Amino acid sequence: MKQASYDIVIVGGGLVGASMALALAGIAQRYDLSIAIIDAAKAEDSTPTAAGDLDGRATALALGSRNLLDSIGVWADLASQAQPIMDIDVSDQGKPFGAKMHAQEMDQEALGYVLQNQHMGQVFWQQLTQHCDAQVAIIDQAQVLQVDNARQDSKLVYERTLEGQAEPEKVEITCQLVIMADGGRSSLRESLGMFNHQQSYDQVAVVVNVALDKDHQGLACERFTAKGPMAVLPLLPDVTSANSNAHNQHRAAIVWTQPQERETELAAMDDATLLAELQNQIGFRMGEFRALGERQVYPLSLSVAKEQARQGLAVIGNAAHTLHPIAGQGFNLALRGAFALAEQVHMACKDQAPLGDLAYLQQFVDASSGDQKRTVGASDQIMKLFSSRDKSLTLGRQLGLLAIQNMPLAKTVFTRSAMGLDRPLANVLAVPKAAPQTTEGGAS
Ligand SMILES: Cc1cc2nc3c(=O)[nH]c(=O)nc-3n(C[C@H](O)[C@H](O)[C@H](O)COP(=O)(O)OP(=O)(O)OC[C@H]3O[C@@H](n4cnc5c(N)ncnc54)[C@H](O)[C@@H]3O)c2cc1C
Repeated sequence: MKQASYDIVIVGGGLVGASMALALAGIAQRYDLSIAIIDAAKAEDSTPTAAGDLDGRATALALGSRNLLDSIGVWADLASQAQPIMDIDVSDQGKPFGAKMHAQEMDQEALGYVLQNQHMGQVFWQQLTQHCDAQVAIIDQAQVLQVDNARQDSKLVYERTLEGQAEPEKVEITCQLVIMADGGRSSLRESLGMFNHQQSYDQVAVVVNVALDKDHQGLACERFTAKGPMAVLPLLPDVTSANSNAHNQHRAAIVWTQPQERETELAAMDDATLLAELQNQIGFRMGEFRALGERQVYPLSLSVAKEQARQGLAVIGNAAHTLHPIAGQGFNLALRGAFALAEQVHMACKDQAPLGDLAYLQQFVDASSGDQKRTVGASDQIMKLFSSRDKSLTLGRQLGLLAIQNMPLAKTVFTRSAMGLDRPLANVLAVPKAAPQTTEGGAS
């Protein structure tokens, strides 16, 4: 078997693994570290194809996440793809009280931003390939089969079959630290006995983009109805010539929570019926829904890994926690976790300590666990509160919305926390801005 060695290996190049690599790139440049990021998919697959049209999932990025990405110099390349959220309208169908939040009254340029996942992924990968290739080696189309942190150094084995090769190539990597960002079904974490506390919501999220008949003006809506909560996020118009047609001018992304027993029905429902159901849930506060993109239906569950670090090993992103998408916090939480881990790597470098030293990794866990408990707990409580038709809970919900709307201090504290502005920035370094080069490098 071939051998290679790096200082840090990130398993999984999804949104979280790629942001982890970017958060570490500046530190790697300062302290001469080598990093590899390994993903089972082909690197070009993260290039957007129909992202500008009506297809593709979107993420609501909190202002605090924007600030983190800005602190490493990545936001400048994302900004042109980001739709600012100027106003948020929270309403409860058939009930008198709701809450409204405005960027202006919070003295912010926006309450958050909406980015299509494909655009975000493409910018992250461009940054890695164009600016960080001296620090970060990209190993794509490679499946990590095994991770072992029992020895002084961590080891992992990956298998890779490239075009024209009869036999898959197996490589063993030795490194100081393995970061597992391999997603919600992390079989590697489970193979190490780092188990999850998992609870199914018996719900699915219907995710679909719609064309609107008018400009949404940066309005985001959260609507609670007897049929399940729905979030509608404003999207930027698609201005690329390849995709320019009437449907792409005014667009919004919908996430609608539904009982699991409707999964098959919703996947098979014709567009006109689904369009009418969606419009009926939200009303016309964002205008008339004219057309639908491709829909996706995701099963929903809550999970938190009981153990998120060992000597030479740390777990981040969906591999560490999955939460209900109702409050749009999963990626935001994961990004804060990735930066908290990068901060500890930075500390270890300054102290000339081994990067896999459990004392530093434990500090990452301690720094993240309170945030995880609060964010996962809040998403879970909001989901339960706003999915219930129980009379006392409905009354509590209405009183809560009334209080948020009428108490400026409570509203400010609530909104600042949801925007991720109640935490200090992590101590990391900016992504190096080198001249563009090739995508491979760093192996020894
Ligand atoms: C409907 C919905 C709406 C959401 N909306 C929001 C929102 O508005 N705001 C927000 O903050 N969050 C949101 N989220 C959450 C957010 O999407 C996730 O937190 C985020 O995508 C997790 O990314 P990840 O990189 O951890 O995992 P993944 O995206 O699953 O990436 C894992 C990667 O690891 C690779 N991989 C896996 N196993 C291996 C292996 N053995 N070897 C090599 N590679 C491997 C895979 O190929 C993949 O690329 C939403 C989630 C859902 C379901």
